[in-house]
Amino acid sequence: MGRAYVYVILGGGVAAGYAALEFSRRGVGHGELCIISEESSVSLFTPITIYYLVERLGSLACGCMRRVIPTYLASTPLRKSRNTTTENPVVPYERPALSKGFLLPEAPTRLPSFHTCVGANEERLTLKWYNEHGIELVLGTRVKSVDVRRKTLLTSLGETISYKYLIIATGARALKLEEFGVSGPEAENVCYLRNVADATRLVEVMQSCPGGNAVIIGGGYIGMECAASMVINKMNVTMVYPEAHCMARLFTRKIANYYEDYYKSKGVKFIKGTVLSSFEKDSDGKVTSVVLRDGTKLLTDMVVVGIGIRPNTSLIEGQLTLEKGGIKVNGLMQSSNSSVYAVGDVATFPVKLFGETRRLEHVDSARKSAKHAVASLMAPNKTWDFDYLPFFYSRVFTLSWQFYGDNVGEVVHYGDFLGSTFGAYWVKNCYLVGSFLEGGTKEEYEAIAKATRLKPRIEDLAELERQGLDFAVSI
Ligand code: FAD
Repeated sequence: MGRAYVYVILGGGVAAGYAALEFSRRGVGHGELCIISEESSVSLFTPITIYYLVERLGSLACGCMRRVIPTYLASTPLRKSRNTTTENPVVPYERPALSKGFLLPEAPTRLPSFHTCVGANEERLTLKWYNEHGIELVLGTRVKSVDVRRKTLLTSLGETISYKYLIIATGARALKLEEFGVSGPEAENVCYLRNVADATRLVEVMQSCPGGNAVIIGGGYIGMECAASMVINKMNVTMVYPEAHCMARLFTRKIANYYEDYYKSKGVKFIKGTVLSSFEKDSDGKVTSVVLRDGTKLLTDMVVVGIGIRPNTSLIEGQLTLEKGGIKVNGLMQSSNSSVYAVGDVATFPVKLFGETRRLEHVDSARKSAKHAVASLMAPNKTWDFDYLPFFYSRVFTLSWQFYGDNVGEVVHYGDFLGSTFGAYWVKNCYLVGSFLEGGTKEEYEAIAKATRLKPRIEDLAELERQGLDFAVSI
């Protein structure tokens, strides 16, 4: 006989944090909601470890243990990792910080400062907050299996937890080089970046070779943001990717040229149109050079791999309908089983604006889809289909861009590509469907978001180019 809850959130990332806040605002009862997450940070003594210990001792001493502490202690013994540091379970946090403030050499961002929901200027939900709101946390614990027919989850500790409603928020994992047939990535100076333990390790590796050479495999946002942070750390960075330009899934060549030129001015080297073939290692097993398929050999002190992600759907495969790599949900974020909802990176949901389903890997989508699922659950008669405007952003060096909508159809660039403010519109079948802006003000970003949502008819692309940002601002 295990524990039973009305609501269980499987996964403790961005979406889980925003769902928890929404549940509390809508008056979830104490003990009705449980979050199960396997995620841990790795360090010797962090404020949260100390907090846990103080809470534990304090609770034991006064004999009035609150529910979350025994839950945490029962399920989450502090464990020793292979590096003899300690794995500390973490409550939900704003994952994008890991490739930005977390990697900075001066005053880096550290937990607990970036727990959800500070990224949306909302409350910061610490362990204390969950405790006070009667939300049970089963942290540092992997869910091994889900039975949607019986409405149960089995944890790695052998505990069965049952639910009335389940929200799946398992996010995604970083793709590994092994999956592309490259051997040797287990070396300690090869880093990935998906969670706070990865980020901590990346910082440690970087600090072990100050001023050294770093090779970044992949030209997406993880690669670009890491490259910027590593340059700020005075590393010599070379980026390697197979595409013709960076951020190939979003940027046009013209936009990409701007960022690549900017990065080059900061010392970053680019090797494009080829991929990693193998590693050379020293007698300690450390990677000393990266060999590319075109034969180029790059001497290196460390490697960062950012080659994409795969949604964590394996627990429910064969039980729920999947589409486009994610769990297919309707406009209420409800899966093919009416008691199971899916949110964040793992959900494939209808994007009304495009008239088709999409699985998005963006923080804003995780936050808003999570809130929507909770609204659907707790106020079903007052909740309509999710009407989401896809939004993605990045910040590197002193640059900052935002993108709304879809990057399909014809593209119109505008602004000063030699200066600091420029952008692009995408127009499909004579309607504006997507907008990009670098270096905008808050009001200008709001204007491109609004224009994209309104989907205005565009008769004349040349006129749109002439008006540029004024087109969106005047709508
Ligand atoms: P996650 O935040 O990944 O959370 C999933 C959670 O589920 C994790 O805690 C995981 O441990 C847990 N879990 C998974 N399986 C199990 C299991 N079996 N048992 C228990 N727990 C489990 N997006 C942007 O729009 N802009 C950015 O600038 C940006 N920067 C980013 C930088 C980095 C370094 C990363 C990694 C991502 C970034 N993103 C960015 C993407 C954004 O962070 C994700 O879209 C968002 O985190 C998705 O939220 P989620 O809750 O769906 O998944």
